Amino acid sequence: MSDPASENSAPSDFIRDIVAEDVRSGKYTNVHTRFPPEPNGYLHIGHTKAICLNFGIAHEFGGICNVRMDDTNPEKEETEYVDSIMADIHWLIDGWAEENLGLKQKSEGGDQRSEVRGQRSENQAGPFFASDYFEPIYAFAVRLVEKGNAFVCDMSAEQTDEYRRIGKESPFRNRTVAENLDLLARMKAGEFPDGARTLRAKIDMQAPNMWLRDPVLYRIRHAAHHHTGDAWCIYPLYDFAHCLSDYIEGITHSVCTLEFEVHRPLYDWLLESLDLPRPLPHQYEFARLNLTYTVMSKRKLKQLVDDELVNGWDDPRLPTISGMRRRGVTASVLRDFAYRIGITKYPSMTEVDALEYAMRDEFNKTALRRLAVLHPVKVVITNYPEGKTEELEAVNNPEDLGAGTRKVPFSRELYIEGADFMETPPPKYFRLRPGGEVRLKYAYIIRCEEVIKDSSGKVAELRCTADLESKSGGATSNRKIKGTIHWVSAAHAIDAEVRLYDRLFTVPEPDSDGDFKSFINPHSLEVVTAKCELSLGEAKPELRYQFERLGYFALDPDSRPGRLVFNRTITLRDTWAKEAKK
Ligand code: ATP
Ligand code: MG
Repeated sequence: MSDPASENSAPSDFIRDIVAEDVRSGKYTNVHTRFPPEPNGYLHIGHTKAICLNFGIAHEFGGICNVRMDDTNPEKEETEYVDSIMADIHWLIDGWAEENLGLKQKSEGGDQRSEVRGQRSENQAGPFFASDYFEPIYAFAVRLVEKGNAFVCDMSAEQTDEYRRIGKESPFRNRTVAENLDLLARMKAGEFPDGARTLRAKIDMQAPNMWLRDPVLYRIRHAAHHHTGDAWCIYPLYDFAHCLSDYIEGITHSVCTLEFEVHRPLYDWLLESLDLPRPLPHQYEFARLNLTYTVMSKRKLKQLVDDELVNGWDDPRLPTISGMRRRGVTASVLRDFAYRIGITKYPSMTEVDALEYAMRDEFNKTALRRLAVLHPVKVVITNYPEGKTEELEAVNNPEDLGAGTRKVPFSRELYIEGADFMETPPPKYFRLRPGGEVRLKYAYIIRCEEVIKDSSGKVAELRCTADLESKSGGATSNRKIKGTIHWVSAAHAIDAEVRLYDRLFTVPEPDSDGDFKSFINPHSLEVVTAKCELSLGEAKPELRYQFERLGYFALDPDSRPGRLVFNRTITLRDTWAKEAKK
């Protein structure tokens, strides 16, 4: 199951069932979803779930999914985030649902609703912006006032909250339509300072659902906006902007996370009160992804970046899409993961193991096997001729014999992994020990004859002899031995910087209490200089490599010709346990 998303075999769920029924009954003829990120940070793996759901529905029902920047908060939003969000979405859906991506045509004027339906156009297309609808949204606000469904309120934010809490009506609630229209126009014209007035819907101050207690629709903010500049000093709130943006774009199924369930009556009330032509969009909610050993909200991720606890938004330890891409996780792994976890209505915590499983499952099938030693210890094979080099045959991928074989040079001086030698090993240790034997993968069985230490007592060199009759695959290679270890030929090895990442937090739920930053794992990054087999000099950024017995690795963009940098994407599961049992 490498990429079920691309195989049209998405598991069904309650939202897809609703869409299927709406299509069957003819309620909607074209399925149109949207993914509406606020451009106040980089996308994370939680967004992957929402993207795969919204694009998945569009893909399966032959529809369109718009990307819309939900940008109604001028202070927090930036163009850098818009660009990163678009790059991440293209990366994630490309090769799968790119043809379902609805983008804005660069045409001026015209009927908003048909203009924004979303067809791909060559060069000029970009995401939709809620802020592009500030004019029509304002016109809808005027219409609500005219219908007696909204009023301008002079109470402060604190007072408004308090009155809503206790269910008390605003003293400004019964202003005349004319007075409300005048004040709203003057709010827009910039006559009042921040916070002086708001526009509120006039619904029901006794409603059990707090969101229906005359919610605020517009507030005054004299602040420059990343997309509209200084054109506006009043900004619509999420609840007002969102349902109308959905309506303007012709969205049929507006899918969001559970915390918006209580907003749904307001979503419906606003669209109903405006007497809009049908069909109207409908909102559906699903449980957001929570993942162990990480934090997911953009606000918290931004703190980690701003406080330099990680190296930028694409730090491979972060759960951001760009961080995971840099770490070596592929788009197909993320889509596979999103499909495996499924869509439900019940909040839950997903174990990060599920993500790691998706990585191993794919990389096991696709990664090229290579030899590399992360913590090298020198081995000299004293009975192997000086100056001799043998080219040994090694399989590139036992899971995919089509990946072929390659030659690995073997010579008298080698490196093995520090952890593969122990002077006084515990029971059941089948790697190298003084006087003990081990097989070098693809090569010979060697015996450790002598341990040479430096002045500090550290192992500097292991002097070994090889059983020259025991070559792997050779005519005389029938000797069986319990341990097999990896190695590289010292004379032929190339150096690489290897970044070994571990979980960023030490506890499964860093978010649950206290300051999440106090749970940061101080050992989440170890950088080593590894000795790698020669062929890794040709490593390509788009390929994945299994360093045998160690894990899966990918080139980091910091790599330069002659200076390799690899990231460990994920370890092999139970590597040592398995090797010990062999
Ligand atoms: P954050 O707290 O990370 O900023 P958000 O909900 O404020 O999250 P938005 O940019 O508003 O982020 O989200 C865009 C879309 O992605 C929304 O529809 C939201 O419901 C969805 N989304 C955000 N986080 C998750 C998550 N963890 N799992 C599933 N969907 C998510
Ligand atoms: Mg948000």
